[in-house]
Amino acid sequence: MDARVMTSLFLLLLGGLAGLLLDGVATVILRATWQGLTHCERCGARLGWTARWRRCPHCGHWPRRPWVMAGLLALVSAGLPWLGRWPVLALWPVTACFFLHAVIDWEDRLVYTPLVSVAILICGAIGVWMHGLASTLLGLLIGAGGMGVLYGLGVLFVRWRGLGDVWLGGLVGVVLGWPGVIAGLTLGTMLAGLYALGVVLYYALRHRQWVGEQPIPYGPFLLLGAWLLLLGQGS
Ligand SMILES: [Zn+2]
Repeated sequence: MDARVMTSLFLLLLGGLAGLLLDGVATVILRATWQGLTHCERCGARLGWTARWRRCPHCGHWPRRPWVMAGLLALVSAGLPWLGRWPVLALWPVTACFFLHAVIDWEDRLVYTPLVSVAILICGAIGVWMHGLASTLLGLLIGAGGMGVLYGLGVLFVRWRGLGDVWLGGLVGVVLGWPGVIAGLTLGTMLAGLYALGVVLYYALRHRQWVGEQPIPYGPFLLLGAWLLLLGQGS
């Protein structure tokens, strides 16, 4: 069998398992307690360590997120050997890190500092491997600094939540390096803006309601934009 097909199949399996595992990590962080792993998220019944992976016998609730995450990450992972130009050994960990942070931010507008610090270290090491120390450090500075400036100025009309975006800016920065980080921040901002516009239009037209003040998660779009650019990097 073709080596690339073998890699893809391996990544399909790895992505699926990682998706289930990352759902556990996300659950603990979002709930701020380990109980999320062992108790039904709807009725709170104690179900043991398989709670996230099966239907609750008490209330019938079936946690969907683990399976959505496993399926999505498996599919994206399997595509990496074709989609990306970086070696999958570098591309896959970055993809998994971005995926986890995007999910947590999407679910709860949350950027968990200890987790994103670890992600910056891991992805930073990959960044140094891929485009050198200087580019990675400059990317970190520009990424975090750029988001910090935007945060300070309140330029983004999308939403203001806190300094979480500065951390995510740093994460994007180490992965894309200098000068890629500039395009990354720009594309992320544009994607978030398009989404915000879509939400506002949808509510205005469908429900005759103005939701311009409603916060939307910015992080997932920043990460998606950076990831799309990442696929085009490398030789
Ligand atoms: Zn239940």
